[in-house]
Amino acid sequence: MLSAAPYGDDDRILRVLGPDEGRLGVFQRLGRRRPAGLDVGVCANLLLRGRAGGLDTLVGATVVHARVRLRSSFLRLALAQYGCELVGAFSREGHAEPKLYGLLETWLLVLDALDDDPRPGLAVGLELKTLTFSGVGPALDRCAVCGRPIDGGGAIDVHAGGARHPQCGAGLPVAAELLAELDGLRRTPLRELVDHPASDAAVQLSRDLVRAQLGSDPATRALWTAL
Ligand SMILES: [Zn+2]
Repeated sequence: MLSAAPYGDDDRILRVLGPDEGRLGVFQRLGRRRPAGLDVGVCANLLLRGRAGGLDTLVGATVVHARVRLRSSFLRLALAQYGCELVGAFSREGHAEPKLYGLLETWLLVLDALDDDPRPGLAVGLELKTLTFSGVGPALDRCAVCGRPIDGGGAIDVHAGGARHPQCGAGLPVAAELLAELDGLRRTPLRELVDHPASDAAVQLSRDLVRAQLGSDPATRALWTAL
């Protein structure tokens, strides 16, 4: 489950992500049979009934993974919520999203398995993987314009494909080391990024790349950056 919003006094609208279904809005009537344990980041099998007002109605749910452990830390819970919002924002409504679904599943699995809070490389890795898996991954090691490798720094345009040679197009100057750091975080599996640092410049550039696609920061980003 990605998120839940109250609907009237008694009901909720859930946003959920399925591997074959993509993102879905689901109407949950809370007054009567309330399926227990449906919360952000929980993996559940949902029983849905036909559409009313454009939304499926939830008639039953079986929790598969409750992700109880990640709820023992404010930071891990905030990161779980952020991952749900971020991956949800890049998922298409009603289209299969197996790669993004798998990414979110791994994200929640990794957070739930941690004993200590992760370092910033993990969240940057999630952002860059989300961009890549949704088909808008920025060029980092190669020029977005000519396709040749970028050695010795270049420029980056977060709105137009990523890095490029200075002679290939305009953009903010970016050091080769920063491009290499971001490319490494994008390619490294999430579970190997748990203790991985990220430079302030990498955190900021990753944020800018996400914001260029969505138009603003995901609302839940402020939850974990404040901790
Ligand atoms: Zn070029």
